[in-house]
Amino acid sequence: MTTGTNRSTATNRAIATDTAAVATEATGAGSAAGATRLVDDGLFADVAPPRLAGARCSGCGTVVFPRQESCPQCSGGTMTAHVLPVRGRVWSWTLQAFPPKPPYRPPAEGYRPYHVGYVDLGEVLVEARLEVPRADIRIGLEVRLITVPAYLDEDGTQVLTFAFEPDPEGER
Ligand SMILES: [Zn+2]
Repeated sequence: MTTGTNRSTATNRAIATDTAAVATEATGAGSAAGATRLVDDGLFADVAPPRLAGARCSGCGTVVFPRQESCPQCSGGTMTAHVLPVRGRVWSWTLQAFPPKPPYRPPAEGYRPYHVGYVDLGEVLVEARLEVPRADIRIGLEVRLITVPAYLDEDGTQVLTFAFEPDPEGER
């Protein structure tokens, strides 16, 4: 999980030198301050590369995301942790043309319209931000999971959320 990364990044920041700051920027590891965290650790099973943490019903096989304690389809099963596939296809999409209501927080550089939609991962539909250019977005587009900057915390920590981008290994 990222907690280790967060901790070491925070340490780097505390003892930051110009060299360390340059190195952080060179690797593209988050904000200028260098510290990053996930918007919600509970959504992720892994971070580098990112994997989403869903749950699967032992009774009927239904997969849900985010995780929940009971099955939405049956009452007999128990829900166990289930790591979701990282590749899927755009199932529906729309343009988020204006800032959503709180708890949405705009990114540091200010709000700009972005695509959102559902991605069909085969076993479950996941609602997500779609980092796909306007010219390329379409239903059925093959996409893969990534993390993207969402906003800055009060202390300058870059908060990451999940999104999908066009899959370079997908058919074009
Ligand atoms: Zn079930």
